[in-house]
Amino acid sequence: MQMEHPKPHAIVIPYPYQGHVTPMINLAIRLASRGFTITFVQTEFIHQFMCKAQNLPAASFDLFAEARKSDLDIRYTTISDGFPLDFDRDLNFNEYWESMFRDFPDRVDEIVVKTMEADVLPETPPFLLVADTFYTWPATIAKKHNMVNVSFWTEPAIVFSLNYHLELLRQNGFSDKTQHGNAENYINYIPGIQSISTRDLMTYLQDPEAIPMLIKIVEKGFEQVKKADFILCNTVEELELETLSALNQKHPTYAIGPINFYTDLTKTSIAKSLWSESDCTQWLNSKPSGSVLYVSFGSIAESNKEEIGELAHGLLISEVYFVWVLRPDIIGGQESDVLPEGFKDVIKNKGLIVPWCNQNMVLSSPATGGFLTHCGWNSILESIWYGVPMICYPFLVDQPTNRKLVVDDWKIGVDLCEGEQVRREEVANQIDILMKGENSVQMKQKIQKVSKKLHDSMDAEGSSCTNFDRFVVDLKAKFC
Ligand code: UDP
Repeated sequence: MQMEHPKPHAIVIPYPYQGHVTPMINLAIRLASRGFTITFVQTEFIHQFMCKAQNLPAASFDLFAEARKSDLDIRYTTISDGFPLDFDRDLNFNEYWESMFRDFPDRVDEIVVKTMEADVLPETPPFLLVADTFYTWPATIAKKHNMVNVSFWTEPAIVFSLNYHLELLRQNGFSDKTQHGNAENYINYIPGIQSISTRDLMTYLQDPEAIPMLIKIVEKGFEQVKKADFILCNTVEELELETLSALNQKHPTYAIGPINFYTDLTKTSIAKSLWSESDCTQWLNSKPSGSVLYVSFGSIAESNKEEIGELAHGLLISEVYFVWVLRPDIIGGQESDVLPEGFKDVIKNKGLIVPWCNQNMVLSSPATGGFLTHCGWNSILESIWYGVPMICYPFLVDQPTNRKLVVDDWKIGVDLCEGEQVRREEVANQIDILMKGENSVQMKQKIQKVSKKLHDSMDAEGSSCTNFDRFVVDLKAKFC
């Protein structure tokens, strides 16, 4: 009698932030649609957020219930991050990250053991551990349990490469302020990166002492990634060819992005937002084509009242239509009144202000003609996908580096007060450049070309799809 070949089983663990959870969910579905059994492990804290966003009771919420209707074998479980649910993880981020660094691996270890014990034939025990590159333990835990480790990088290859070459940067004194102070220097010794200004480095490299915990996490995470069996990167070969080629010489790196846009994902509707989404459709439908500026700073960036005030006045001066996502915690805490006095009365039908929205829906609307963005990597990929040029206003972590790609390398966006205090006149001016006149036409044409590269990469014969196929073949070869 011939034995039915068992399905490969993967434990998949996203990093507990919106910009990491969404691509990991999509990767899990992608793997499940290729015949993998998935155990998706979400922190209880993020689970609660998703339930609240869906207005569903936490006890019965199952992120992948819809996916299972399409015969995908995805199990869903939660894990404690070690803190009570009402602990403010943003305010106490040092304590939170320290514990994620120190204590979380033991919890993951427990769940791996539990998943292994719970598994019965004809399935095999999980042989694959898929985890975010920012985690500081995946290769160690995978090795302990004789599993294959896949490291998933949710940011561009250039950021990966800079982190990968941290030691080389150190040797060249990048973090030595006594050597270069705040002056601009160019780094041209990283393989696959022709030249990058120190001002375009990730904020945790520009100023390692600002949040020492962050650089510690990156350091440890990249020690682990060097021991990973596979690295997947949510980018596109045609966008970052040189960087990826250089990385590939060190470590097999598969560019499989933009993972959030695999077409067969549309068959399963999974609510991935951590906050409930305001519907902007009707409002957008009432506006002329290309007339609306979408303004959003993602899920983590924090601003202040003065900055919000300048942006608000800039929008008024430009007279553009706008959708503005102002998270309730945009200036930290829960201050409700962050806009200048009377602003909402003045804008009338000119602007729609929401706490959170379905960003893909807004960007895909014909009315949307520009995106004032914090340069989160998901936001950039989404903006390119829908052909919406950007005004770049980076805040932290990888965002300044992502800005360089958009403005300096691909020329599909403009800067806003780079490195300077934002001013209302400049806001209005950049909106005009992006959305009106000759410049805006050229920018639109350019982004459409880049957008085509993204769409092409997702075709069956495109680079991201074939890279994913190659990855699955290479992976299954380890399994069989
Ligand atoms: N997003 C959304 N609604 C909003 C704002 C953001 O759905 O109102 C989504 C956006 O589509 C993206 C993610 O949140 O997928 C933000 O990720 P990104 O990498 O851009 O930034 P981060 O939040 O990690 O800084």
